[in-house]
Amino acid sequence: MQVIKKVEELMGDAKWLVFQEEYNNKLNGKYETLFTLTNGYMGIRGTFEEGSEGERPGSFIAGIFNRGEAQVRELVNVQNWMRLKIYIEGEEIRLDRCELLEFQRILDMKKGVLFRKTVVKDDKGRVTKIEGYRFVSRSNRHRSAIRFFITPLNYEGVIGVENLIEGTALNSATHPKYRVKHLKVVKNESICKSGIYLETATTDENKRIAVGSTLRIYNLEDINRENIAFFRRFIPLGENSAEYLEFKGEREKTVVVDKFAVTYTSRDVEKDLLKNAVENDLFDFVSRGFDEELEKHIAEYDKLWSVADITIEGDEEADIALRFNIFHLMSSVNEKDPWVSIGAKGLHGEGYKGHVFWDTEIFMLPFFIYVYPEAARTLLMYRYNMLDAARRNAALNGYKGAQYPWESADTGMEETPKWGFDYKGNPVRIWTGDLEHHITADVAFAVWEYFRATNDIDFMLNFGAEIILETARFWASRCEYVEELNRYEINNVIGPDEFHEHVNNNAYTNYFAKWNIKKGLEMLNFLKENYPDYYYAITHKISLTPEEVEKWKEVERKIYIPYDKEKKLIEQFEGYFEKKDYVIEKFDENNMPVWPEGVDVTKLGDTQLIKQADVVMLMLLMPEEFDEETKRINYEYYEKRTMHKSSLSPSMYAIMGLKVGDHRNAYQSFIRSAKVDLADNQGNAVEGIHAASCGGTWQVAVFGFGGLEIDREGVLNINPWLPEKWEKLSYKIFWKGSLLEVTVAKEEVSVKKLKGRETVKIKVKGKEMAL
Ligand code: BGC
Ligand code: BGC
Repeated sequence: MQVIKKVEELMGDAKWLVFQEEYNNKLNGKYETLFTLTNGYMGIRGTFEEGSEGERPGSFIAGIFNRGEAQVRELVNVQNWMRLKIYIEGEEIRLDRCELLEFQRILDMKKGVLFRKTVVKDDKGRVTKIEGYRFVSRSNRHRSAIRFFITPLNYEGVIGVENLIEGTALNSATHPKYRVKHLKVVKNESICKSGIYLETATTDENKRIAVGSTLRIYNLEDINRENIAFFRRFIPLGENSAEYLEFKGEREKTVVVDKFAVTYTSRDVEKDLLKNAVENDLFDFVSRGFDEELEKHIAEYDKLWSVADITIEGDEEADIALRFNIFHLMSSVNEKDPWVSIGAKGLHGEGYKGHVFWDTEIFMLPFFIYVYPEAARTLLMYRYNMLDAARRNAALNGYKGAQYPWESADTGMEETPKWGFDYKGNPVRIWTGDLEHHITADVAFAVWEYFRATNDIDFMLNFGAEIILETARFWASRCEYVEELNRYEINNVIGPDEFHEHVNNNAYTNYFAKWNIKKGLEMLNFLKENYPDYYYAITHKISLTPEEVEKWKEVERKIYIPYDKEKKLIEQFEGYFEKKDYVIEKFDENNMPVWPEGVDVTKLGDTQLIKQADVVMLMLLMPEEFDEETKRINYEYYEKRTMHKSSLSPSMYAIMGLKVGDHRNAYQSFIRSAKVDLADNQGNAVEGIHAASCGGTWQVAVFGFGGLEIDREGVLNINPWLPEKWEKLSYKIFWKGSLLEVTVAKEEVSVKKLKGRETVKIKVKGKEMAL
């Protein structure tokens, strides 16, 4: 058995820590999101073990969706294994009902461990110290555990510990209008080798979720960890499964309570074998002990951080905030499961019902491409696995090829709800699922970005090419020919800016459609020339004829690209410049834009105010299409009209700001983006982490300040710029199989190759170098 590490002994350096210093019921929801632990397989919100007022508990398993009574399929809030209640002489102890003599929670991002330090005084004056930590293992993703150190400070008496798996979970529990119960309890049993077991089934497809748990209670000093509980009973409590234990608490003597939990679903193991799988794994986990799994878990995090960490010297606030974003992003992926992706809110909350948006491909994926390419490939494989569904989506809407849904869950079909509420709470029809078509090109674009950085030809030949071709085909059928103008148009869409619905010829969408068709044509030539077998196989598989390819060429050539070369200002969509013009002048305490006076927030479509980066997004993703001046002019115009009502926006303005010389705003936007959840500056952190913003924040550090760019010739360029107080910025990336370390100091940029056999050609501030 390993030595038991007390809280202080396990906790790392300050630069890895995020603190909660004060207890407040009203802030529970936010901290639960900040302190969610996830390994990409499951996510557990950071609720207190014993429960508290205002909490929004959540346990989610990637890929477990259900529709039930809800509008669309949603990520199920499954049974919660995390409860652990403490009773002193029969009286329940809770933080919100006791006096808190000490309180602190600390997330250690280096280890993926959440700590708590509390000293509570109950109404009888008994003072108890309850410290501990928990983790959700990255090593064996089915395992998770909590350790409590319980010390009675001024009394002795019987202490009871109740271990619970709660099957009472609801989705939208705090919204009486929407509450949904997605689960039925099918088994509530004790496991013969000691422990409790709760198995649930989703109401629609009877998917099973099985959780087993048990406690071990022993004295801190006892190296043999002999049991000290003199009472134990398994108690099935309807939808909850419980075991209750008692031990004798002695003054100033610390008792350790280890809670072990194991989770499997019928996605992992056949239904009939589930209980067995849980029992065996739990038994093995307990026998090997808490510390062995914890060590393995920490070792996995060490591996991830060895590439993912970025350090900013000279600006501690930015350094920690950036690390926080990276922590949640890299924790959210399961590189082994190509049937799930990362939802807009990660596995951190119920926001957006666990759905996957363009957030993954455009905002998060660059991080994975450059830091963790294996995971990037898995995320793209999710889209490949949903390609048949995308074909059905296209057909349902009367188009050809593959159309990716705006919101995707486990089936790949469109899951955007049709109804929602506007900023004033009025019910409104939601059109994004019907009209936000750019997602289809975004997916193809991501495939290309991945390939460009990794040269993963196996992926491209077997999967990626098919995505690019089928999406190209979608666009060729989506574009409408307008005879009078002899051009193709894309009408009635929503671009990235969602304030404007039913717009015609959104610049972003049209450019991307053109790009997508062009890439399809290039791909065909590429295959034909280099991999004729694959060319032959794929054109037959998707039944693509030379006539259809001719049609693609025609559409690609004649698609309308709204760009006035004289004026250089790009109109976001046709008619945008005729809308009422408001300019943002005021900002709130978080530096977020305030609605200009006189704006009717229910009629934003009539104004030039936009929700988030749109034209700016286009210029960032297709930098070679626009010259410097165009970028500056458009950045300046749209920046003043962007409300940043989506957390996807500030990071993109930060990067573009740096490219056009608006350094001051760039730093502010970076901080806005990095602190979306830490400062809760969108006011909805409770709904889950803003995963796209995490990815966007990483992009500002690397593509913005770090200056990483791929030029027209496909060569890696580094043109960094550091804010005044930053002394040094260093980051690592994979580029075509080699691992590079870039360090930017005030006067010096250094690039080192840490791994990789081939010579890498790069340009630093315009100067060519070979590594
Ligand atoms: C988002 C859309 C989304 C809709 C329904 C809106 O708040 O902006 O992108 O499709 O909610 O989930
Ligand atoms: C944004 C979309 C985004 C979605 C999910 C919406 O508010 O407008 O661009 O995909 O949220 O994060």
